[in-house]
Amino acid sequence: MKVEFLIQGSAIEPYKVTFQKTGQHLSAFCTCPAGMNGQYCKHRFSIFRGGTEGIVSNNLNEVKVVIDLLAGTDIEDALIEMGQAEIEAERAKKIIAKAKKKITTLMHS
Ligand SMILES: [Zn+2]
Repeated sequence: MKVEFLIQGSAIEPYKVTFQKTGQHLSAFCTCPAGMNGQYCKHRFSIFRGGTEGIVSNNLNEVKVVIDLLAGTDIEDALIEMGQAEIEAERAKKIIAKAKKKITTLMHS
Protein backbone atom coordinates (compact mmCIF):
# COMPACT_ATOMS: atom_id res chain seq x y z
CA MET A 1 0.00 0.00 0.00
CA LYS A 2 1.50 3.28 -1.14
CA VAL A 3 0.18 6.84 -0.76
CA GLU A 4 1.84 9.91 -2.26
CA PHE A 5 1.29 13.63 -1.73
CA LEU A 6 2.76 16.74 -3.26
CA ILE A 7 3.44 19.42 -0.66
CA GLN A 8 4.28 22.99 -1.52
CA GLY A 9 7.17 24.08 0.66
CA SER A 10 9.66 26.89 0.31
CA ALA A 11 11.11 25.53 -2.96
CA ILE A 12 9.51 26.22 -6.36
CA GLU A 13 8.79 22.54 -6.97
CA PRO A 14 6.48 20.85 -4.46
CA TYR A 15 8.04 18.13 -2.32
CA LYS A 16 6.92 14.55 -2.81
CA VAL A 17 5.91 12.74 0.36
CA THR A 18 5.54 8.96 0.09
CA PHE A 19 4.07 6.59 2.65
CA GLN A 20 4.46 2.89 2.07
CA LYS A 21 3.32 0.03 4.25
CA THR A 22 4.83 -3.42 3.86
CA GLY A 23 3.42 -5.89 6.35
CA GLN A 24 3.50 -4.08 9.68
CA HIS A 25 6.29 -1.76 8.60
CA LEU A 26 5.51 1.78 7.52
CA SER A 27 8.06 3.89 5.66
CA ALA A 28 7.70 7.60 5.01
CA PHE A 29 9.93 9.55 2.65
CA CYS A 30 10.01 13.22 1.74
CA THR A 31 12.02 14.93 -0.98
CA CYS A 32 12.58 18.12 1.04
CA PRO A 33 16.23 18.81 2.03
CA ALA A 34 15.76 17.54 5.61
CA GLY A 35 13.86 14.46 4.44
CA MET A 36 16.52 13.63 1.85
CA ASN A 37 19.09 13.82 4.65
CA GLY A 38 17.18 11.33 6.77
CA GLN A 39 16.26 14.02 9.27
CA TYR A 40 13.03 15.19 10.88
CA CYS A 41 10.75 17.06 8.51
CA LYS A 42 7.42 18.68 9.31
CA HIS A 43 5.79 17.48 6.07
CA ARG A 44 5.55 13.83 7.16
CA PHE A 45 4.76 14.66 10.80
CA SER A 46 1.97 16.99 9.74
CA ILE A 47 0.26 14.25 7.70
CA PHE A 48 0.71 11.73 10.53
CA ARG A 49 -1.27 14.15 12.66
CA GLY A 50 -4.01 14.51 10.07
CA GLY A 51 -2.77 17.85 8.75
CA THR A 52 -3.44 18.88 5.16
CA GLU A 53 -1.34 22.06 5.19
CA GLY A 54 0.53 22.68 1.95
CA ILE A 55 -0.82 19.61 0.14
CA VAL A 56 -1.25 20.54 -3.52
CA SER A 57 -1.93 17.08 -4.93
CA ASN A 58 -5.58 16.31 -5.46
CA ASN A 59 -5.88 13.69 -2.71
CA LEU A 60 -6.50 15.44 0.60
CA ASN A 61 -8.89 12.60 1.43
CA GLU A 62 -5.94 10.17 1.47
CA VAL A 63 -4.54 11.76 4.64
CA LYS A 64 -7.07 9.52 6.41
CA VAL A 65 -5.58 6.50 4.62
CA VAL A 66 -2.17 7.38 6.09
CA ILE A 67 -3.69 7.59 9.58
CA ASP A 68 -5.09 4.08 9.00
CA LEU A 69 -1.69 2.83 7.79
CA LEU A 70 -0.15 4.23 10.97
CA ALA A 71 -2.26 2.01 13.21
CA GLY A 72 -0.28 -0.70 14.99
CA THR A 73 3.15 0.46 13.77
CA ASP A 74 6.20 1.38 15.84
CA ILE A 75 5.87 4.88 14.39
CA GLU A 76 2.43 5.20 15.97
CA ASP A 77 3.87 4.16 19.36
CA ALA A 78 6.64 6.76 19.06
CA LEU A 79 4.18 9.47 17.98
CA ILE A 80 2.01 8.75 21.05
CA GLU A 81 5.12 8.98 23.22
CA MET A 82 6.01 12.29 21.58
CA GLY A 83 2.48 13.62 22.09
CA GLN A 84 2.64 12.81 25.80
CA ALA A 85 6.02 14.55 26.09
CA GLU A 86 4.55 17.61 24.36
CA ILE A 87 1.71 17.74 26.90
CA GLU A 88 4.24 17.50 29.73
CA ALA A 89 6.39 20.21 28.13
CA GLU A 90 3.32 22.45 27.84
CA ARG A 91 2.52 21.85 31.50
CA ALA A 92 6.13 22.62 32.49
CA LYS A 93 6.05 25.83 30.43
CA LYS A 94 3.00 27.03 32.38
CA ILE A 95 4.67 26.22 35.73
CA ILE A 96 7.80 28.12 34.63
CA ALA A 97 5.76 31.15 33.55
CA LYS A 98 3.91 31.12 36.88
CA ALA A 99 7.17 30.86 38.81
CA LYS A 100 8.69 33.75 36.86
CA LYS A 101 5.66 35.88 37.69
CA LYS A 102 5.83 34.92 41.35
CA ILE A 103 9.57 35.63 41.57
CA THR A 104 9.10 38.99 39.85
CA THR A 105 6.31 39.89 42.31
CA LEU A 106 8.52 38.81 45.25
CA MET A 107 11.38 40.94 43.97
CA HIS A 108 9.14 43.99 43.96
CA SER A 109 7.78 43.56 47.48
ZN1 LIG B 1 9.76 17.11 4.16
